[in-house]
Amino acid sequence: MKAALIAVGNEVLFGDTVNTNAAFLAAQLTQSGVEVVRQAVVPDALADVAASIHDALAAADLVVLIGGLGPTVDDLTRQALALATDRPLHEDGAALAEIEGYFRERRRPMPVSNRQQALVPEGGQLLPNQRGTAPGLWLEVDGRVLVALPGPPIELEPMFQEAVLPRLLPRLGGGRRVIWVRTSGIGESSLQELLGDLLTTANPSLLPYAKLGEVHLRILADGKSQEAADQAAQGLLEAVRSRIAAYIYGLGDLTLEEVILRRLGARAQTVAVAESASGGLVSERLSAVAGASRVFLGGTVVYTAGAKARWAGLDPELLSREGPVSAFTASHLALAVRRELGASWGVATCGWAGPEADGEIGLAYTAVAGEDGVACREHRLGRNRYDIRHRLAQAALWQLYQTLGEES
Ligand code: ATP
Repeated sequence: MKAALIAVGNEVLFGDTVNTNAAFLAAQLTQSGVEVVRQAVVPDALADVAASIHDALAAADLVVLIGGLGPTVDDLTRQALALATDRPLHEDGAALAEIEGYFRERRRPMPVSNRQQALVPEGGQLLPNQRGTAPGLWLEVDGRVLVALPGPPIELEPMFQEAVLPRLLPRLGGGRRVIWVRTSGIGESSLQELLGDLLTTANPSLLPYAKLGEVHLRILADGKSQEAADQAAQGLLEAVRSRIAAYIYGLGDLTLEEVILRRLGARAQTVAVAESASGGLVSERLSAVAGASRVFLGGTVVYTAGAKARWAGLDPELLSREGPVSAFTASHLALAVRRELGASWGVATCGWAGPEADGEIGLAYTAVAGEDGVACREHRLGRNRYDIRHRLAQAALWQLYQTLGEES
């Protein structure tokens, strides 16, 4: 199947809005085995949108329109679809009731203009919008599929994944399986060395994506049936596991912090954090996970040498002798935060993030304190301040993850 994407709207055309929706859709479609053959951005003008739909239909079996489904006069996508496909618009009673319900629920009067969002080209179907008022559209014309999705990514993404993809997959024939493998604690090049020949096969394929402090591996398998694709992907996963098991913390889109919190939750344990150079990033990541309050007791940012000494209950002279960035300081902060908050685990960070620093830029320490004492790790995290801070947060979480060990 070949696809064309058309983003509708002056704000995208003039550069006020970055076309992230097209990037999202192109990646999703490619992953599903659809070949994206063109992308266009067109102004809020009926004739332009309709002409672009015409062109796209000549090149693709699937045309996805982005934006322009709202209630205002410059929202012309459904009119352009009707024009380009010669399918007159009808009002869909159920859709109108849903839009009216949306406003009723929010105790707001429905503007008359919202009524046009219930218009559907003949033969078309509306796609429900869980996050806003603009329903999407699905229209089949002469064996081709036209889809229109609302502009806000928060509406477009779930609608594509929940309403569009499931309708497309049966048309693609065969099966496809994608497995994401998440790793940490190892750089991309070392990982590639360990994976070696596994990275060179075409189907199933293995592709590394380097992130800050993590490498995600995408396993992709195509098969004559879903079962064949599943089996091939699973086989490659086992081969990957046999080589790099120690660095894999999870599959799918589970984050490192989610894995840690689940593990702690299962053991009825808690964690507290004291951060210097990472400035709260560890706490931010832990607290972003829903349900974190059962496990994450709290975190503090202790930034200057004076604040560290006071907070850890240390003599300032001793701390300055040992160094504000040292294994000594990280360890004492981890012990102090564990003690102060009464947590099962205390985690701490310190480091020189630069660009100006009294020590070696990129030198950093993480420490994890538990029932059996404290362990500290030294890191060299590069020279870029942003990278250092984020890698340091990652290193702290990774140390905690490894300290926790196997799932119990
Ligand atoms: P709604 O009426 O629900 O807002 P709509 O379909 O009318 O949806 P638009 O008015 O075209 O959508 O765009 C709404 C918002 O969606 C824009 O202000 C912008 O923030 C975002 N948006 C639109 N197009 C894109 C795009 N191609 N990529 C990323 N964001 C986009």
